[in-house]
Amino acid sequence: MRIHFLGATEDVTGSMTLVESHGVRLLVDAGLAQGLRADEINLRELPFDPQKIDLILLTHAHLDHCGYLPRLYKLGLRSPIMCTEETAKLMRVILDDSAQLLAQHENPKLQSFYDTSDVEKVFSHLKICQFHHSYPFKHLQISFHYAGHILGASSIKIQAEKSVLFSGDLGRFDDPLLTPPESAPAACDLVVMEATYGGRIRPMGMEAEINSFLVKVKEENRIGLIASFAVARAQTLLYLIHRFYRHHPEYELPLYIDGPMLMRANDIYKRYAHKTKDPQGLRDALDYFEKVEHFKLREHLKKSDKPKIVISSSGMLSGGPVMNYLESLQHDPLSILFLAGYQAPGTLGRAMGEKQSGLILNHKPFQWQGDIIQAESFSSHADQRELCSWVSSTKSPIVIIHGEEDSKKSLEQQLFPRQVTVAQKGMIYEL
Ligand SMILES: [Zn+2]
Repeated sequence: MRIHFLGATEDVTGSMTLVESHGVRLLVDAGLAQGLRADEINLRELPFDPQKIDLILLTHAHLDHCGYLPRLYKLGLRSPIMCTEETAKLMRVILDDSAQLLAQHENPKLQSFYDTSDVEKVFSHLKICQFHHSYPFKHLQISFHYAGHILGASSIKIQAEKSVLFSGDLGRFDDPLLTPPESAPAACDLVVMEATYGGRIRPMGMEAEINSFLVKVKEENRIGLIASFAVARAQTLLYLIHRFYRHHPEYELPLYIDGPMLMRANDIYKRYAHKTKDPQGLRDALDYFEKVEHFKLREHLKKSDKPKIVISSSGMLSGGPVMNYLESLQHDPLSILFLAGYQAPGTLGRAMGEKQSGLILNHKPFQWQGDIIQAESFSSHADQRELCSWVSSTKSPIVIIHGEEDSKKSLEQQLFPRQVTVAQKGMIYEL
């Protein structure tokens, strides 16, 4: 078996790994690069012929794992894609949005990168898989293992003459909605694992961070704006906020959900609530708050100075309905922006979190006068301790991918004296 590391080797986006075994060629994930230099990376020529790929295995629905798939189908790929049912549903939301963003891209090459018809091709090639079943493909056996992280996320094991386990993105062990990822299967010959938080121990207190924000907004009669990723993060936030309000009704304020992508993700989380730790609590939370379904309500909210909370995407302020609120609330020193997660370099969210000056929004100078809270404890990734614990169930060698250089090095040191290789772009591992 030959494993070619094609993406997410230097950073945490653009996951793509090619596996070859006795003439079968398959890809594990096909994601878009995001953040700095993303356009250049996404437009690079592929080091393989998409028409010669026999199978795609998809770990989960995040854009940096599935966002390149429509491009492959545009280039002539016609192979099946194996993934879980929840991944398929969430991928629909992510890829529809991606096609829409590309259509508005200023670079003509990305404008024609793929469109909704290519997204449709992806969905006509899906093969839905269950956790813990073994699926034959030619001489291979493929199995999906629960990874936490977001609904449907999986680690994937490929068994040929030898076996390799791809971790995908692994969830945190104390996620409010999802149970911890199951440990790596003991019997495998190689583990390829992510290291997004490989160099960090995540601070405690996700709930404390959002709760103190809710209290501050209420006590000081302010307007709170929460910028959140539409998929997974928003549902976790809504669940936590609803739980806090249930226990502390004295702090409750009207809360509005704005964003079609976020609402579609809410519907999917509601439908699959039985796969979470608190199905009824989640359903109640997702039904409880008011949705901004008409532009008139949005215009009203933007003008009204009544205390309230709005949750909207995108999480890194790189587009989406949250931009409307940023623009209208920027001169109000009583508004508070809550950034509910990682802000990639090059995004407006990062610039605002770092209090940079000279910012531009919608081609106009932009300066946020209110407070900004950059939440530190929100992450859907396992941290260093959890990654080490996850992989301790097997004695196999490890290849580390999907992490910034420091994170990968730090995880490598932590795993010493195990046999660990840090993947480099283009590296080939013979198994
Ligand atoms: Zn992910």
